[in-house]
Amino acid sequence: MLPRRRHELPPTAGLPLKLTDLRPGAATLAADVAALLGTPPLALTCSGTAALLIALATLHELQPARRRVLMPAYTCPLVPLAVHQAGLEPVPCDLRPGHYDMDPHALRAACDERTLAILPTHLAGRVADVDDALAVANNVGACVIEDAAQALGARRDGASVGLAGDIGFFSLAAGKGLSIYEGGLLAARDPELRERLARTAARLAPFQLGWELRRSAELLGYAALYRPHGLRLAYGNPLRKALRRGDPVAAVGDDFSLPLPLHAVGRWRQAVGAHAAKRLPAFIEQCTARAQRWLPRLRAIPGVEVLDDPAGAHGTWPFFMLLLPDAQRRDAALEQLWQTGYGVSRLFIHALPDYAYLGGIVPTSDVPNARDFAARSLSIGNSEWLTEADMEAICGVLEASAR
Ligand SMILES: *Cc1c(COP(=O)(O)O)cnc(C)c1O
Repeated sequence: MLPRRRHELPPTAGLPLKLTDLRPGAATLAADVAALLGTPPLALTCSGTAALLIALATLHELQPARRRVLMPAYTCPLVPLAVHQAGLEPVPCDLRPGHYDMDPHALRAACDERTLAILPTHLAGRVADVDDALAVANNVGACVIEDAAQALGARRDGASVGLAGDIGFFSLAAGKGLSIYEGGLLAARDPELRERLARTAARLAPFQLGWELRRSAELLGYAALYRPHGLRLAYGNPLRKALRRGDPVAAVGDDFSLPLPLHAVGRWRQAVGAHAAKRLPAFIEQCTARAQRWLPRLRAIPGVEVLDDPAGAHGTWPFFMLLLPDAQRRDAALEQLWQTGYGVSRLFIHALPDYAYLGGIVPTSDVPNARDFAARSLSIGNSEWLTEADMEAICGVLEASAR
C-alpha cells in the first residue's frame, strides 16, 4: 500500500493566491482577462453556472419555441441543473467511444427544430470539437454555447476557445485555474448579443450583500488553504470522510442543489482576481511545461491512455485525464491513490442520467460510451507541488494496476 503523502496535493492545478492579491484595487478582472486572452469584452458573473444560465435565458428570449439543450452525457451536473433552472430541458448526448467529445451520430440523432443550444465542452482543459457542433446547429437553426469552464487560456488555431460558437463561458471556481472562489466569464463575438446578455444579467443577477459577504469570506479561506499545508483540511479530510461513508458523489463535490445562486460580483473580489490574473499567462505556461514533461512517462505505461488535444489546439493542463482498460483496473489504481494525498481522483462520478439526485431533471437515456468513460477514467492533478518522486509513485501504482 502506498504511504499517505505528508502534505495533500490538489486534484487540479489552481493559481495560488498571494497575500498581496488581497489588497484593494481596480475592479478590472473581466477586462484584464479579455486583454490577456485577446478576446472581445468579457462579462463577469458569479459562477460559470450563472454564465450558462444567463446565456440560456438570453437565447430562449430570442427563440422561445425551442426548449432542448444538448450536452455531453459526461459533464458537470451543474450544467443540466442550470438548464432546468432556466425552465429548459437538458438532453444528454452520448460521447464518442473513449473520448470527451459528443458522438457525431448521437448528436445528429438528438437535434431538431426543438433544439435551442448545443454545448460542446472543453473537458479537463482539452479542446473540444466545436466545428461539429456548429455544423449540426446550423442545420437545425440552433445556437452553440461553448462550455470552457475547465479551459480558461486554452487556444485553438491561435485564438482563445469560447468564441467559435455564439456564446462561451469560463469558470473562476476554486481549483479551476484562476479563481475568485466562485465566478465566471461570459464571452460572445456579436456586440448586439453581448448587449442582450448584459441586460439579462442585470435582471437575473443583481448585487446581493449577503452573497457578497459569504463569497468574500470563502475567498479568504481559499487564499489561506489552497497550499500544501491547508489542503488536507480543505480537501483531503472531507474527501476521505465522504468515501468512508460510501458517498463518492460528495467526495468529489458533485452534489449540488437548486436553486443556483444568481448575483453580481463585488469590487473587492474583482480586484483580487485582477491582481492574480497578472500571473495567469505564466501559470498556464508552467502547467503546460509540466504536462509536456510528464505526458511521455504516463503514455509509456501499458494499458494507460492520456487524453490530448486535436491538431492545432493547445489546451491547458489543470490535470491529466487517464483512461484505464476497464473499471476494475481503474478502481484498483484508485484504491491506492485516491485517499493517500497524491491529487489523484475522479472528475465526475457518473454519466448524467446516473445521478440519483438528477432524477426528474435529466431524462433516462442510453449513453453507453459516457458510462464507460465514467467507469474507466481517473485524474491526476498537475499542480506545482507534484514532485518527480510523487509522479514516480503514481506511475508505479498505475503500472501495477493497469496491466
Ligand atoms: C465547473 C463546471 C461548470 C460550472 O462552473 P462553476 O463556476 O463551478 O459554476 C460547468 N461546466 C463544466 C464542464 C464544469 O467543469
